[in-house]
Amino acid sequence: MSTPVEKVSCLIIGSGPAGYTAAIYAARAALKPVMYTGMQPGGQLTTTTEVENYPGYPKGIDGPRMMDDFKAQAERFGTDIRFGYVSKVDFTGPVHKVWVDESTEIHADSVIIATGASAKWLGLPSEEKLNGFGVSACAVCDGFFFKGQDVVIVGAGDTAAEEATYLAKLCKKVYMIVRRSEMRASKAMQDRVLNTPNIEVLWDSETKEILGDKSVNGALVYNSKTKQERTLHVTGFFVAIGHKPNTDVFKNWLTLDESGYIKTTPGTSKTNIKGVFAVGDAQDKVYRQAVTAAGSGCMGALDAERYLSEMGIH
Ligand code: NDP
Repeated sequence: MSTPVEKVSCLIIGSGPAGYTAAIYAARAALKPVMYTGMQPGGQLTTTTEVENYPGYPKGIDGPRMMDDFKAQAERFGTDIRFGYVSKVDFTGPVHKVWVDESTEIHADSVIIATGASAKWLGLPSEEKLNGFGVSACAVCDGFFFKGQDVVIVGAGDTAAEEATYLAKLCKKVYMIVRRSEMRASKAMQDRVLNTPNIEVLWDSETKEILGDKSVNGALVYNSKTKQERTLHVTGFFVAIGHKPNTDVFKNWLTLDESGYIKTTPGTSKTNIKGVFAVGDAQDKVYRQAVTAAGSGCMGALDAERYLSEMGIH
């Protein structure tokens, strides 16, 4: 027996800062938004400890608590928030078809995609154990907690290079662990790293283990050229080996860049499909901050509202 199709005016996919902000705006504009949270309600911030750089929280706030506040604000204006994972879409027609958990079929006049991105990790058990206790994938978010201390950053792309120089301004010493004998980062970024006195690049190196019981107190690093192991006495361990946008389900419909980020018309949240908007980290590989994601969520709701009004739907 086939399940009944539900018709909605504004469907929001994803529940990080971008999704919730889109929901707050869409609900206040009486679009009656329905949100599907995805498998990790609250998104990446629920894996962070303290957030100190989100305006409006002068004393800082725990990531999970902040996302509870976002959720409560979205619910206050009537957003219908549901747990579920979008497994298939069909953006052929003016009505956008979306399937949740393979079974529920939704027909939406407008869709706001806020599925975010996931940081890539090295895959060490010690990295998972100490995540949030010295291990982080965001130097801008967490670097401040390691002021005056020694830290590691892993990676050799533009993000790692940029974050290494960011950390070098706060920390006493930054060890940059690069797995090959060259970096992928742009020449200008590499020069900046190599000319910063308190950054030491460890070439041809890989992390064997992150040390520490309750929090990070070191890292064991292996050099594949010299075959030597070295223990670094650090309290912070930053991983900057890339992110993966959560956009696979849209790839047959939306224009993505070479890394899988959804392309939007600059200055808007519009995708190549009318009525489908993309916000937050699913379309931003440069800024990736909670506050920039929230700002773009607002843009998504305003663009959706304008679209529905132009189409005479709302
Ligand atoms: P990238 O994919 O460019 O780089 C990832 C880096 O991590 C590579 O150096 C890679 O090494 C290394 N790496 C991957 N897996 C491992 C592993 N298991 N162990 C150790 N090292 C590993 O990601 P970025 O986040 O740096 O950049 C993403 C995109 O965003 C790029 O296009 C970049 O140019 C852009 N960007 C631009 C900025 C700017 O313009 N200001 C700022 C930040 C990002 P290897 O080189 O050996 O493959």
